[in-house]
Formats: sequence, C-alpha cells, structure tokens
Amino acid sequence: MSRHYDILIAGGGITGLTLACVLKDAGLKIAVIERQAPQPHEPEYALRVSAINRASQRTFSAVGAFEQMAALRVSPFRDMHVWDSTGAGQIHFDSAELGLDALGCIIENRVVQLALLDVLQQSENLHWLCPAEIESIELAAGNSRIGLTDGTGLSAALVVGADGAASAVRSAAGIELARSSYQQQAIVCTVGTELDHAETAWQCFRPSGPLAFLPLADGRCSIVWSLAEDEIESVLALDDDAFAAALAQAFEFRLGEITSVSGRAVFPLGHGHVDEYIRPGVALIGDAAHQIHPLAGQGANLGIMDAACLAQVIVRARTAGRDWSALHTLRKYERWRKGDNRLMENAMTAFKYLFSNQDPVLAAVRNAGLGIADRLGPLKYTFMQHAMGVSGDLPEIAKAVGWRD
Ligand SMILES: Cc1cc2nc3c(=O)[nH]c(=O)nc-3n(C[C@H](O)[C@H](O)[C@H](O)COP(=O)(O)OP(=O)(O)OC[C@H]3O[C@@H](n4cnc5c(N)ncnc54)[C@H](O)[C@@H]3O)c2cc1C
Repeated sequence: MSRHYDILIAGGGITGLTLACVLKDAGLKIAVIERQAPQPHEPEYALRVSAINRASQRTFSAVGAFEQMAALRVSPFRDMHVWDSTGAGQIHFDSAELGLDALGCIIENRVVQLALLDVLQQSENLHWLCPAEIESIELAAGNSRIGLTDGTGLSAALVVGADGAASAVRSAAGIELARSSYQQQAIVCTVGTELDHAETAWQCFRPSGPLAFLPLADGRCSIVWSLAEDEIESVLALDDDAFAAALAQAFEFRLGEITSVSGRAVFPLGHGHVDEYIRPGVALIGDAAHQIHPLAGQGANLGIMDAACLAQVIVRARTAGRDWSALHTLRKYERWRKGDNRLMENAMTAFKYLFSNQDPVLAAVRNAGLGIADRLGPLKYTFMQHAMGVSGDLPEIAKAVGWRD
C-alpha cells in the first residue's frame, strides 16, 4: 500500500524545509522525509550557525518563520571587515553607508529548522515524516517512488533531492557530482573575546585558509577557522588555553585575547556542482546540487534561493494550467539557478586560491586590489548587494519592495 503525494522532499535540512514552507499555500500535498529531527533549542549556542542574507531573511519572513527565529535567537551584523594577513589590504562594508540597519544576521541552523518546522506543522498540506530513512528510490516522469526502511511506500509526481552533499536522490537519478577537496578542514566553535565584536563579521585571509569571527547576540563569536589538512590535527590537539592563544594570534588580536572556548567540531571542505539539476520526476536543490567554501557564508543562502525559485516555477506552471512536474517546466528552474550558483562557486574557489597563494607578486596585487576595491564605492557595493541578496534575478518571495526592505 503506497501513500501518494504531489511532491516528496527528501531531506528536512534548511533547504528542504524552506521549499515545503514556500509551497504551503500552493494546494499541493507534500511530504518532507528526514532521518533526524533538529535538536531542541537550548540556552547554549549550537556550533552550526549560518550568516543569513537579506533575500533569505525575506523568504523566511514571507512564510511566517522569521518572527519565530527572532523569538528564539538571531544576531544581526551591521559591518563586515575583511583583510589579508600577509599585507595591508583590507575592505570594510558598513550597513549605514547603504542606509540599512544590518547586512544580515547570524542564526543557528537548528533555529532556522525549528522555526520552519513550526510553520510546516501548521499546514494541513505538509507532512513531516521523521524519523524516516530512505531505502529505495525509483524516479520516473510524473510517478516517482520512495521506499522507507520501515516498509512504508511513497509515490509522487516529483521527488526533490534536498538531502545534502551525499544525496541519495542525486545518485538514484544518475547525476554525477565531481567534488574537489580544498585540502582544508574547518574548525567551528563559540568563543568569548576580550574586546567587543561591535556586531561586525570579521574575516581574515591567511595563507592556510580564511578565519571568520561571526558576532553572536550574547557578545561571543562563532568562529570558522579553515586550516590546511596537515595542520588540523595539531590545532585540534591543543588544550583550551593553548587553542585560545593560537586563535587570538591567528586573528591578529583584532578582538584582543580569547577569553573562553566551547567544544569544537570539524568539517571537511570541498566544492562541487552538478551539470544537471533535473531529470524526469526529480529536481535537486541546495547542497545536493552544489557545495562551496563557507568563506563567504553563501551555501545555505544559495540553497534557500534554489527552493524559492523551484517553488515559483511550479506554482506559475500550475496556475497557468501547465504540467508543473514536467521536465520542460523544471528546466526553467535549472536555467534560473545554475548560472548564479556556478558563479558563486567559481568566485569562492578563486578567492580561496588567490588568498592561499604565497607568491609575493600575487600577495602585493591582492593587497592593492582589496585597497582599491575598498575605495571604489560602486564596485564594492555591487559585490555587496549581490552577496546580501538585494540584487540579481531573485524569486518574487525574496524581492524587496524597495531595495532597502
Ligand atoms: C563550517 C561551515 C560553515 C557554513 N557557514 C555558512 C554560512 O554562514 N552561511 C551559509 O549560507 N551557508 C553556510 N554553510 C553552508 C550550509 O551549512 C549548507 O550549504 C546548508 O546547510 C545546506 O543545507 P541543505 O538543506 O541543502 O543540506 P543539509 O544541511 O545537508 O540537509 C540535508 C538533510 O537531509 C537529511 N537526509 C540526508 N539523507 C537522508 C536519507 N537518506 N533519509 C532521510 N533524510 C536524509 C539529513 O539528515 C539532513 O537533515 C556553512 C557550511 C560549513 C561546513
């Protein structure tokens, strides 16, 4: 006995839940299949946080989830400082210069998931199948099937793979993802600092990888310290005091000494992009389709835009009485997102190699380049607006009425 839906979303991470919530009023019966529920909210910050840009924030607001996120915990950042540790090059972005109150906000991934899940659970059209593990996937135009390990059979006109970097849906669709390692890993933890973080996101480009300090509302920072693979073990082996000292030094004491250190987690870093986002009966969104370096804090934002664009394409086709799950409809989604996602992936890879190269000529050029970009207002703010999600070909739900919204 199989349960039938219009759409089966494999994966209830940030992108899968966003897609479900954006489609909540579309009149479609949708199930989200997730193996593990998000951890409950706790007083202590979770280690996984994301810098959420304004386009994503608008999407969350439009589906009624942002208020809930804010009630749990969000940390706005108003400025951004980026500099090269090997020279004097630096660039500074100030929300006030753009007439904005903030450039974006830092939100724990579990807070994003819990708020979206709350919206999902208020909709009769949306079903949360969790804990549920996918065992089998058969994809076909208009009639795809998923079998769960508990024996449940599910079918739908469309399966959406939002199941992350190791996507089983992508494999079942026969879509290749050529993943390249950056030969770096990132240490993530929450730290206290001697000086006030000033609601600023700080990023230092070091030869061994970028080091980011993201400001949290309780005055501490969430750090993402990317290190070459041969350095990671020795840094992880340090006790808290030695780790704090090494971190403060790597960060050039911009926020003084490190006064407290939480537990640490490590993530391997790589990048990859599929050539095809769609096949008959299936579409991929988020990390299932592309992975990038976290240095610009864009991975989740790109996935949220994938979800919003796919939803818009489906709703427009359905409203016009066209086959919303047909390949030619889904092709519009693929064309819409592929260019933007690839541009961001290539830019992040170029940044990573440019800033980890120790050639003195290149170092001089990039330091000069940062300085010039900092003084060239139009160039600087064009880049900024793109990263913030206030320019580009955005889906309706993520668009501002005026660009300052
Ligand atoms: C250190 C680090 C820092 C980052 N910082 C930022 C940032 O500041 N801003 C930003 O925008 N991005 C950031 N990113 C990227 C961001 O975290 C990811 O792009 C984003 O979480 C991807 O979301 P997703 O929903 O596509 O995939 P995932 O988060 O991987 O979710 C996939 C979900 O599918 C479920 N699943 C998978 N397989 C199955 C199965 N077989 N059965 C049932 N369920 C299944 C999983 O349990 C999971 O919940 C960062 C990444 C890293 C590593």
